[in-house]
Amino acid sequence: MYKKVVEFIREQFKTDEFIPLHAPVFTGNEKEYLLETIDSTFVSSVGKYVDKFEELIRDYTGAKYAIATTNGTSALHMALMLAGVKQGDLVLTQPLSFIATCNAISYIGAEPLFIDVDKETLSLSADALNEFLKEAVEVKDGQAIHKNTGRRIAACIPMHTFGHPARIDELVDLCQQYNINLIEDAAESLGTTYKNQQTGTFGLLGTYSFNGNKTITCGGGGMIVTNDEHLGKLAKHLTTQAKVPHRWDFVHDHIGYNYRLPNLNAALACAQIEQLDAFIANKRELAENYHNFFAKQDIQFVSEPNDSKSNYWLNAILLKNREERDEFLTYSNENGVMTRPVWELMNRLPMFTKAITTDISNAEWIADRLVNIPSSVRVK
Ligand SMILES: *Cc1c(COP(=O)(O)O)cnc(C)c1O
Repeated sequence: MYKKVVEFIREQFKTDEFIPLHAPVFTGNEKEYLLETIDSTFVSSVGKYVDKFEELIRDYTGAKYAIATTNGTSALHMALMLAGVKQGDLVLTQPLSFIATCNAISYIGAEPLFIDVDKETLSLSADALNEFLKEAVEVKDGQAIHKNTGRRIAACIPMHTFGHPARIDELVDLCQQYNINLIEDAAESLGTTYKNQQTGTFGLLGTYSFNGNKTITCGGGGMIVTNDEHLGKLAKHLTTQAKVPHRWDFVHDHIGYNYRLPNLNAALACAQIEQLDAFIANKRELAENYHNFFAKQDIQFVSEPNDSKSNYWLNAILLKNREERDEFLTYSNENGVMTRPVWELMNRLPMFTKAITTDISNAEWIADRLVNIPSSVRVK
């Protein structure tokens, strides 16, 4: 059975060579924009491509404000600061995520509190969140307080896993009832819509990543989006060292951050975003091929949830148990097809074993069974 799967993946990528999980594709104006940027000498944090990229993200997502950053992790760190998260606060998030989400929470001196994911979406579960809020949280003086510890719950960060959206409208409603600011970690889901709205634009703030393995990449880069004018302007200010704009004076009015995206990276990003819709169409075609194939193999393929159109960033299958998962991982990787299990659950990492963890049986179930399979855009 595993042999058949590996052969099918090889057919999709039409190669006998090593097949990576996700490789970037540069088939557009990348070289032209990069050379132009070098010739202009504006390779660093000022330049037309930074402004252009922010504008393109605003147009694409419909967000009113978009602020480019050095990477997705710095975008998350900044978003948490903008949402008013302080040292000692709790931040609700899912244990099934890439480390960046919890790292950003930790940079503030806040702590993650783990809520389960849905089996269907692989993302933060509205049911689990609802249950947790009802049982464990009260609103006092307008703030959400965790009853057991008396600590403030300052924010909630759902993550749209592998590009599949959470039931984000329900999460937004729940958080609003408890005065909890919602930040979407949409690092993996640029271009994914839920009920025809772009992921990243539902919460108070949303963040994207343009790391080398994401749907589009600029080497390293990130973006914060928001519809809140004050937060949008503050984000730009704080990510540019909090420098007060002036032609020659160097005055700063706050502890700032050097989180600006260099123009060189932004040039690459502009060329990539021109191809985003084509990339997503290409990825969705691959996902459909996988879907049809796995249906015949009695292997569960992870498909987009109801009411959504996923970018299918990383395709995934769910095997019967951990043993099968490991057998498949071994077979595929030994045969030149890169596959990998989901990230070790965050609550199992040494930095977070003491963090508060609710019932996360769905995340544990998924972690035992899930394998990501090659998902790059296929160049014809
Ligand atoms: C990629 C990713 C990020 C951001 O990563 P950077 O490498 O810092 O751009 C954040 N969260 C998740 C879930 C990611 O997959």
